[in-house]
Amino acid sequence: MRPVAQLILRTMALIVQKYGGTSVGDAERIRAVADHVARTREAGNDVVVVVSAMGKFTDDLIHLADDVSPNRPPRELDMLLTAGERISMALVSMALGARGVESASFTGSQAGIITDTDHTRAKILEMRPDRIREALDSGLVPVVAGFQGVSTERDITTLGRGGSDVTAVALAAALKADVCEIYTDVTGVFSADPRVVAKAKRLSKVSFDEMMEMAATGGRVLMLRSVEFARRHGVPLHVRSSFTWEPGTWIVEEDPTMEEAVVSAVTDDKSEAKVTVGGVPDKPGIAAKLFRELANRGINVDMIVQNTGANGLTDISFTVAKTDLEAAGECCNHVKDEIGAANVTTDDNIGRVSIVGAGMKSNPGVTALMFETLSEHGINIEMISTSSIRISCVLRAEKVSDAVRYLHTAFGLDAA
Ligand code: ADP
Ligand code: ASP
Ligand code: MG
Repeated sequence: MRPVAQLILRTMALIVQKYGGTSVGDAERIRAVADHVARTREAGNDVVVVVSAMGKFTDDLIHLADDVSPNRPPRELDMLLTAGERISMALVSMALGARGVESASFTGSQAGIITDTDHTRAKILEMRPDRIREALDSGLVPVVAGFQGVSTERDITTLGRGGSDVTAVALAAALKADVCEIYTDVTGVFSADPRVVAKAKRLSKVSFDEMMEMAATGGRVLMLRSVEFARRHGVPLHVRSSFTWEPGTWIVEEDPTMEEAVVSAVTDDKSEAKVTVGGVPDKPGIAAKLFRELANRGINVDMIVQNTGANGLTDISFTVAKTDLEAAGECCNHVKDEIGAANVTTDDNIGRVSIVGAGMKSNPGVTALMFETLSEHGINIEMISTSSIRISCVLRAEKVSDAVRYLHTAFGLDAA
């Protein structure tokens, strides 16, 4: 039979708390985190901590790699970048000890995060968090390095920028935690990036559907893959501040009794660039050949526009992550002659503004108001894409921040 104390332990909540870079940015912040973890435990909960690298340490390491060598083998880059989270996990564990909380730190590999071999953007294949469960069972607070795992080839991998969110959600799902708390430098998810729109409002609840659209179009407060993962495994997410500790935004399954906002948020994204393949024959098979070639090189294409051209010729434009622009340009030049294209041009001075809202599917006029608002301010739309709950427009990069503010006002989202 279990001792009574252990039976009582079973009735407590299990909380996974993820702390982003700013939240562990210096010694004082790390002590504040340890203090909060201690208080969460004192309230009768079990806690698993997931940490990011301190401040902008990951960026600094990438710059260092750039300085050392023009080519950065992905395996070595992953080995380098995971060092950032390793520093945080050891320091947080030490700070917990100083606060009287027994803990132990674990790398992603030690925490049983098994990934594929796609270095710098590996996907989790399997979770084997045995050591984390053992640590919890023996009364420790496990502190896990975010953003990393170990591949099926036994190499250290990273999960893509912002990947500590994925680590936290994957652990919460595997451990069947009651909630995954994402602590960051804003007090929750806002109706727009509060750094761009001063009048943005904090949302108390956001549906998984809306959060996925926001995360996919620039609302970088949560990494897209973490939201997809949370939804698939039914993990409630609570995004909140590690500066004020006040309750933030809950990301949950849509409540059918709730009235849906027509537009909940406006997002901005300057991480993509545009490629145009000009003067291609307007006949079947051309686009298929072009996009197969891009796919074979692992290049993700986002928005695509094909103009109806004259004289049997057309232009195909598409967007890719800026980090893939060079490879995409090379790839198009490589197939240019084969598909009979006249030219290939690239443009990294674009940005995207999107409006997201679960209620827009049943409200006509949303698209018209978006286009009218942009046109009133003389902003030209270069590409358009939609989903049932999102409309995105590609604009000149320098117009994006203003466009977000105009749309935020036009859709009645400004805080009073
Ligand atoms: P962390 O290091 O904690 O993971 P991130 O920088 O990844 O933090 O994400 C938090 C940032 O996301 C905020 O500082 C904010 O500028 C930005 N952000 C963008 N869109 C939104 C939004 N809609 N609501 C809240 N924050 C947003
Ligand atoms: N440190 C990593 C990054 O900056 C992972 C994270 O913070 O989530 O992308
Ligand atoms: Mg983040």
